[in-house]
Amino acid sequence: MKICSLASGSKGNCLYLETGETRLLVDAGLSLREITARMQHAGIQPDTVHGVLVTHEHLDHIRSAGAFARRYRIPVLISYATRQAAAAYLNKTPLIEFETGYAFAFQDCMVDPFPVTHDCSDPVGFVVDSAEGRFGTATDLGVVTRLVRDKLQDCRALNLEANHDPEMLQNGPYPWHLKQRIKSRHGHLSNQESLELLFDLAHSGLEALVMAHLSEVNNHPDKVAAVTTSFMNDQNRCAPQIVIGDQYQAGPVMTI
Ligand SMILES: [Zn+2]
Ligand SMILES: [Zn+2]
Repeated sequence: MKICSLASGSKGNCLYLETGETRLLVDAGLSLREITARMQHAGIQPDTVHGVLVTHEHLDHIRSAGAFARRYRIPVLISYATRQAAAAYLNKTPLIEFETGYAFAFQDCMVDPFPVTHDCSDPVGFVVDSAEGRFGTATDLGVVTRLVRDKLQDCRALNLEANHDPEMLQNGPYPWHLKQRIKSRHGHLSNQESLELLFDLAHSGLEALVMAHLSEVNNHPDKVAAVTTSFMNDQNRCAPQIVIGDQYQAGPVMTI
């Protein structure tokens, strides 16, 4: 399995996943040109990707999903409601529509889109199972539900949101209503909430971890790296490769 966080944060998200015989993008929130450049820089051939999974219609996730799919003649995999909300980006784009909550086969994988709470039409996280094991992703969620916790069990690789440090958010420059939105059930997970989730997900088979969607204003990569590393050391249950998602450059390709 290979994972590469190509971009992560409120200005654009895109993650590359290679598992079994299947190569996928999870979201495509940068320009087509930028995604292509970052893939090539990471040694990944864009024309070998089989499909683009879309989590929700916010621009930092869907910006060039349609353009990428049209360019490489592959499908966008998207829920009906998200497709309706993002129709402008998906003109003449090959689509595979899924129903949130129902797993479906794609290539040699089973893809399970599960609902998360966020301020948009039909936000989802994904679990992707192949003969190589399980990958799970959950970003842009206001709260960790029981379902999220259950779905993300037993992953070899995880991409988890760690959006903000609660103190930095509280004391930071954002207006009150925006602070409330971020903290709400339909906002984003804090570092603390993300680690609480990890507490329930950490197991000896967890080999790769991306901490994702960091706020540039209300968080700091060093802070996330420090709390995550110290959490892993305290847990002593696993020692995954850890990558802190970066907005401006692709992370390393993690091979597990
Ligand atoms: Zn987002
Ligand atoms: Zn969002």
